[in-house]
Amino acid sequence: MKVRTIKEGDTEVLVPVPEEGANFAPSAAPVFYNPAMEMNRDISIAATSVFLKGIEPDPEKVITYVDALSASGIRGLRLANEIGVHTTLNDWSEDACELIQQNIDRLDIGDKAVASHKNANVLLHEKHFNIVDLDPFGTPAPFLAAAARSVVNLLAVTATDTAPLCGAHLNSGIRKYAAIPFNNEYHSEMGVRILLGKIARELSLHDKTMRPLLSHATRHYVRTYLEIKKGAKRADQMLNDIGFIAHCPSCGHREAINGLAVPIEKNCSNCSEENMIAGPLWLGKLHDPEFCSDIIADLEERNCGTGQKAIKMLEFCRDELDIPMFYDQHLICKKLGLSASEIDRVIQELRDNGFLASRTHFSGTSFKTDAKITDIEKIISNI
Ligand code: SAM
Repeated sequence: MKVRTIKEGDTEVLVPVPEEGANFAPSAAPVFYNPAMEMNRDISIAATSVFLKGIEPDPEKVITYVDALSASGIRGLRLANEIGVHTTLNDWSEDACELIQQNIDRLDIGDKAVASHKNANVLLHEKHFNIVDLDPFGTPAPFLAAAARSVVNLLAVTATDTAPLCGAHLNSGIRKYAAIPFNNEYHSEMGVRILLGKIARELSLHDKTMRPLLSHATRHYVRTYLEIKKGAKRADQMLNDIGFIAHCPSCGHREAINGLAVPIEKNCSNCSEENMIAGPLWLGKLHDPEFCSDIIADLEERNCGTGQKAIKMLEFCRDELDIPMFYDQHLICKKLGLSASEIDRVIQELRDNGFLASRTHFSGTSFKTDAKITDIEKIISNI
């Protein structure tokens, strides 16, 4: 395998050179490395570092982290090298494991990092890890049961199968997540909430709960960081944050219905047309604003390639209202036959009319609010 040296953060890593015939696509290399995921990794380093600072240190116990699907190992190598956490770098590919070991030796971090050559599901069923990180090709669904069993404190998950999650590949999404998504204007938020709903249900099998610290949809992927706690009662309470969205395709009115055992109105309470129903999905919070601020502060000090871009996105996450689901101004204006205004102007008008309103990291033309569609339309029409 041909390799080259790259540097992400403070860590130099050997990564494969993709083969020419396949347009140098990362997936064409014998071991996967995607430079486009650098921001995902930069945020991982900062988020894990912040999370670790919040754990009471126990001199008797070592905090363990597993990069369950490592490929070149770049994510776990950076964590071991840049924040010193004890890391297991696992991949079932022999080529990947050889490269990981080479990288551990070159960085001289054998006291903190260990290569593991197993099926991720076997490893996660064998051992508990304080922090479990899943960064698969496409869907994390085949690994969620084992990750839910293994994880003790923090679960971080990437999903790159946005088409199934967001309803563009409906049947595939239903098969993988046992939920029905909508492929409409807020499909990106739908994807995040469908994934979180599935993870919450997997955790509840083990009497575990999750509290989302940060969840974002960026380009072609979704990423979430979840604080994990144990307790059957807590798990029962958490399931109240799962439910359904009733959306009226005629007037655009939507309603969040919390709980798995509640009656759902078939018809829209605004215009009486028939609702569409999505779910089960996560209706709880997506972020902890304080955690987002701490990651921003960490990134400001950290040497990393995508720092400023990551900070901008995190500021949107921190400041957005945690109300499902966002509204797209362009779609509303199209329906009303109006041209769109500056998004900040729309938000100010909503606030001036007594409603909560904010921008959202999901889309530059969209906003979140507690106003109903009829109020939103009135306010936009008067701008
Ligand atoms: N986390 C890496 C990064 O940040 O560059 C990328 C990981 S890559 C998308 C997914 C990796 O998972 C591949 O290297 C593949 O060999 C590995 N893999 C897929 N299924 C696996 C399984 N069941 N057990 C262990 N490794 C697996």
